[in-house]
Amino acid sequence: MRPDLFEAPDYYNLDELLTDEHKLVRDAAREWVKREVSPIIEEYAQKAEFPIQIINGLAEIGAFGPYIPMEYGGAGLDQISYGLIMQEIERGDSGVRSTASVQSSLVMYPIWKYGNEEQRQKYLPKLASGEWIGCFGLTEPDHGSNPSGMVTNFKDMGDHYLLNGAKMWISNAPFAQVAVVWAKNEEGRIHGLIVERGMEGFTTPETHNKWSLRASATGELIFDNVKVPKENLLPNKSGLGAPLGCLDSARYGIAWGAIGAAMDCYDTALRYSKERMQFGKPIGQFQLQQKKLAEMITEITKAQLLTWRLGVLRNDSKATSAQISMAKRNNVDMAINIAREARQILGGMGITGEYSIMRHSMNLESVITYEGTHDIHLLITGLDITGLNAFK
Ligand SMILES: Cc1cc2nc3c(=O)[nH]c(=O)nc-3n(C[C@H](O)[C@H](O)[C@H](O)COP(=O)(O)OP(=O)(O)OC[C@H]3O[C@@H](n4cnc5c(N)ncnc54)[C@H](O)[C@@H]3O)c2cc1C
Repeated sequence: MRPDLFEAPDYYNLDELLTDEHKLVRDAAREWVKREVSPIIEEYAQKAEFPIQIINGLAEIGAFGPYIPMEYGGAGLDQISYGLIMQEIERGDSGVRSTASVQSSLVMYPIWKYGNEEQRQKYLPKLASGEWIGCFGLTEPDHGSNPSGMVTNFKDMGDHYLLNGAKMWISNAPFAQVAVVWAKNEEGRIHGLIVERGMEGFTTPETHNKWSLRASATGELIFDNVKVPKENLLPNKSGLGAPLGCLDSARYGIAWGAIGAAMDCYDTALRYSKERMQFGKPIGQFQLQQKKLAEMITEITKAQLLTWRLGVLRNDSKATSAQISMAKRNNVDMAINIAREARQILGGMGITGEYSIMRHSMNLESVITYEGTHDIHLLITGLDITGLNAFK
């Protein structure tokens, strides 16, 4: 892969809206991605392996629990800093951002928000430092967009819970030490349970043959009469709203992350268009190529504004789930379209691993599907504006 020459587009001077802390956090993440991710990520994506050696670096830039209070090992940052970290990591690779998102929003967040003090003390510092990696088990083989139909269940056996079922498409599963698992009790109510690697009957087979998020490990979670200690139940929230609360936080991070992937594709295509000569001119001088580039920067700028505003609302605890859903859908769709157009600007070179665009393009096929598919997010906006439920 070529040297990382990335220069971030900021067409509407959005930096003026950021505090010094935001810029410091963002620049540290950007430098780290250039130094530690860009040089190796193509190789790891090609061999379909997560680069486990970057875990410590992710922890150091605050990617594990950016907004979790410092008393639990988190970085204690605001929502805009959290978003900027996700943007920079996904500028490197969506798979790496996925690992950070899962750790922060889907594992640390529920333990922080729905757990008790002992659970926070036991798990959060180790997750924040990267000593432990976590995963989040919601999706099942027959229940993806409709997690309320889940069949994974637990029974109260007096001194422990007995957990049975299976989860599918679980990021980080093959090497996670800790899994936050959503399962129904005997009354059919959804609860979160913390399951640890090594518990008898708990296995995590890896999912192979992915053409997308190849540098992120994905697997199943299988529970065959797993005895889960009673103290591992998250006591402070139950029902579908509990996992959905985690998804709000993760989807918000994805909205920022997708901008990172789009910025990288745009920046690569812009540079290439000025260097590549055809018919005696740089291809960037042809109107058709300029149209593509002009539309890309317009869409990136719109997404940046949308997401910054969402960050302000999140900081004030005013962002609704539907607003987050809109940003996730819009930004991932924007990024996937930009990746496709950028790839065309690079012609044949665009399909190679010399450049990052094809990898982003393939990664974004997962990002547009997980954490609520594009269509599901359209229905969420539809429900929000009409009051009419198209899910049922
Ligand atoms: C790489 C990867 C990593 C993932 N990581 C995790 C993870 O860490 N943890 C986790 O729990 N899950 C994870 N997922 C699962 C992901 O969230 C699901 O794939 C997603 O929710 C969609 O579920 P599904 O694949 O079963 O598709 P389905 O729900 O079967 O949907 C198939 C199609 O039908 C459409 N559809 C479904 N219902 C409706 C409807 N009511 N109206 C209109 N259209 C509809 C969908 O939009 C989609 O286009 C991951 C997935 C991938 C690919």
